[in-house]
Amino acid sequence: MNKPKIVILGAGYGGMIVASRLQKSTVAKDAEITLVNRHDYHYQTTWLHEPAAGTMHHDKTRMKIDSVIDTKKVNFIKGDVKEIKKDEKKVVLDEMVLDYDYLVVGLGAIPETFGIPGVKEHAFAIRSVNSVRLIKEHIEYQFASYNKQAADQDGKLTFVIAGAGFTGIEFAGEMTERIPELCEYYDIPREKVRILSIEAAPTALPGFDEELVEYAMNVLESRGVEFKISMPIKEVTADSVILNDDTEIKTNTIVWTTGVRGNPVIEDSGFDSMRGRIKVEKDLRAPGYEDIFVIGDCALIINEETERPYPPTAQIAIQQGAACANNLKALVEGKKEMEQFTPDIKGTVASLGGKEAIGIVGTRKIYGNSASAVKKMIDNRYLFLLGGMPLVIKKGKLKMF
Ligand code: FAD
Ligand code: NAD
Repeated sequence: MNKPKIVILGAGYGGMIVASRLQKSTVAKDAEITLVNRHDYHYQTTWLHEPAAGTMHHDKTRMKIDSVIDTKKVNFIKGDVKEIKKDEKKVVLDEMVLDYDYLVVGLGAIPETFGIPGVKEHAFAIRSVNSVRLIKEHIEYQFASYNKQAADQDGKLTFVIAGAGFTGIEFAGEMTERIPELCEYYDIPREKVRILSIEAAPTALPGFDEELVEYAMNVLESRGVEFKISMPIKEVTADSVILNDDTEIKTNTIVWTTGVRGNPVIEDSGFDSMRGRIKVEKDLRAPGYEDIFVIGDCALIINEETERPYPPTAQIAIQQGAACANNLKALVEGKKEMEQFTPDIKGTVASLGGKEAIGIVGTRKIYGNSASAVKKMIDNRYLFLLGGMPLVIKKGKLKMF
């Protein structure tokens, strides 16, 4: 009898947890498992603000897929997914077409531009190892090429962060750590440099605990971040951002962190979606497609208490990966009953650079050094889930305080 073919698209948080769970289960011998990813490495998206600012080497955030996935049990294909032909049960990659019996879509997200003119052309995004390496190099180049004597240096050392959500705030925190180092290295006075955090909503981190938001803003302001709140950016040009009140701020560097939408493969493949995310059934399958599971940032699930979608997070992607692996195992064993997924939200912790962080764990508010240590423990916990203690020792954040 032919073994069922399971194809997992995307080796991010969700896809890696599915693959690693399946390889340890009976599914590894009862099914043919294939993992497809654009790169031959897995990176931790949640760490990317650090290499973007240059406070961490990008290699620390990534690992070769075959160093954590047993490629004798899970076939790995390095390829770019172009389209899912859901009615033919095929996936089109850049260089081949794959058949599947069961598909897992875990292709993550892309930055949400809201169609704002100039963003795609002129702004940077914190999205992948390649995108953050580019940001880091670009920032350094601004310092290296700054010439105090030359005219028209406006904006060279003005760094604009669009959106003060969690990504924008975490990146601002890293920038406050990195800028003093760069100033010293390139003999540039700190007061020549501006870090601007521009937010459309009436507060930074909208929806988060007010006391912690105030704490975060105070920490960042004390390190020189300038906030512009209630001020949507309406246009980006090659050398400026234009705000809603028509103010133009000269800058060579705009890092765009105004939220995300699901991977474009979702829309290009004709799935019904909201901002590129498929509203999945409780068992994580795409409505109308019993053979397709969707997890992580490509999936949309509703918080029944607030009746609003859960924000896309690694925390949820990891939990969905585990539930999806259980459901695939059940299907391979011929069972019909599926695990119903409900996220178990443990809290939210955001770093502010250095030894500062804020967060809510359970119902407890945490901040400062202890929050920063908790953040590192969360980062290490994922590595432990994926590769046990050896991976924590190799890639973890071991300096807690
Ligand atoms: P990802 O982990 O993004 O992985 C998607 C994978 O698909 C990648 O390997 C990518 O290369 C691959 N891929 C994409 N397109 C293709 C294609 N066409 N073909 C082949 N492969 C493809 N969440 C938290 O819970 N806690 C945090 O502290 C946190 N911090 C964050 C910090 C930053 C700076 C950012 C940007 C996000 C953060 N998030 C955090 C959100 C979290 O990173 C995402 O929700 C999470 O990464 C989603 O996991 P995923 O498996 O869906 O996708
Ligand atoms: P987000 O949606 O959380 O925040 C985006 C921010 O940009 C919002 O505050 C929004 O008001 C603002 N904005 C939108 N349009 C704007 C405009 N034109 N001009 C200025 N500001 C504008 O998105 P994010 O920060 O990119 O995060 C993406 C996802 O990743 C979220 O689900 C988030 O919770 C998660 N995340 C979590 C952590 C953490 O837990 N530590 C860290 C980073 C990201």
